[in-house]
Amino acid sequence: MANEVCLRFLGKETPWKLKNYQSYGGYEVLKKILSEKTPPAQIIEEMKTSNLRGRGGAGFPTGVKWGFINRDAPGKKYLVCNSDEGEPGTFKDRDILRYNPHQLVEGMIIAAYVIGANLGYNYIRGEFWNEYRRFQDAIDEAREAGLLGENILGSGFDFELHCHLGAGAYVCGEETALLESIEGKKGQPRFKPPFPAMVGLYGEPTIINNTESLASVPVILEKGGEWFKNLGVENSGGTKLFSISGNINNPGVFEVPMGIKFSELLEMAGGMKDGRPCKAVIPGGSSAPVIPGARMLDLTMDYDCIQKAGSMLGSGAVIVMDDRQCMVKVLERMSYFYYEESCGQCTPCREGTGWLYRVVSRIENGEGRMEDLDLLDDITPKISGRTICALGDAAAGPVQGMLRHFRDEFEYHITHKKCMV
Ligand code: SF4
Repeated sequence: MANEVCLRFLGKETPWKLKNYQSYGGYEVLKKILSEKTPPAQIIEEMKTSNLRGRGGAGFPTGVKWGFINRDAPGKKYLVCNSDEGEPGTFKDRDILRYNPHQLVEGMIIAAYVIGANLGYNYIRGEFWNEYRRFQDAIDEAREAGLLGENILGSGFDFELHCHLGAGAYVCGEETALLESIEGKKGQPRFKPPFPAMVGLYGEPTIINNTESLASVPVILEKGGEWFKNLGVENSGGTKLFSISGNINNPGVFEVPMGIKFSELLEMAGGMKDGRPCKAVIPGGSSAPVIPGARMLDLTMDYDCIQKAGSMLGSGAVIVMDDRQCMVKVLERMSYFYYEESCGQCTPCREGTGWLYRVVSRIENGEGRMEDLDLLDDITPKISGRTICALGDAAAGPVQGMLRHFRDEFEYHITHKKCMV
């Protein structure tokens, strides 16, 4: 595996300031693009070659998404960065905002140039107050240096960038709820189609990319799409930030090549705490179905491999659990989260998340009946795929995953009215 770094965390060794970012070659790619007036279509092709798939969880190819906008069509276009990192277990975008905000600013200016947007927003999770301040400081520095605002570096290209702090709703990480929130409305997802590339912010064409995706842009264009693609595996180019937490010795954020073996990632994170066996792993944030630890040790960390194993890579939030964890308790906690965060717009999610939580909770509290497992089997397909946004699927997936792999623990709980572990 290559040991390349695409998202250098400057702040860990040196201050995150503009002059330090520039000492690593920061903003040189932007300068080259603007001075040479690189055709946007050429940049899109390079991005497609890189095989960069959206790092927010959906995994949609970034270059393809940029191609949805006709930059020469009349009217406004917007660029929005999704830094509303709220998926339980995910904390990698926070580190980009903390330690290398200028790489994100540079990536956003380039993306705006490509799609023809003169105004952009970075929507930052409400709890990330310090990161919001830091990103705002980076914007101020960039503007002062002539890298943002009117006529950037004398190129004739204008781009203004603003930070927008969320208010603590998980659902605003869904891109259309995020747009509603920027517009000052209640953060509820919109019906799609139309998709934001056609009707987005204030009704205008809008591209929304994740923080890590946009921060990867300068290095891809500096070293080439082919270089980036070759860091990863087929269908999943580049490196990826994984936030790994749970019963391990060294939780944190690790940048590794796509397709690294899970066992290697676990080793980087210091291995299992107290040498306990790895019982279960949630590989892509709490909405990703659980995978038994023994199976996970054979898998590689890329979109296709994790999907074939019945789960998803999502945002790369890896939650590792040892044999002391009760899966019923874990599921109760997760079900409560989705119940609490449902925006209430559509019935299967609003009512279904409550049903899931209450049924799992009574099993956890020793009041479950064997029929409850059939009830859970029955409820989840009535939620998945029947809602406006993916929160319904996010609530149903973990229940299905737990019952698929750890049904015996739920049965034990019902029969003995206590944990198996
Ligand atoms: Fe709201 Fe849930 Fe429907 Fe999404 S799925 S729109 S969160 S009610």
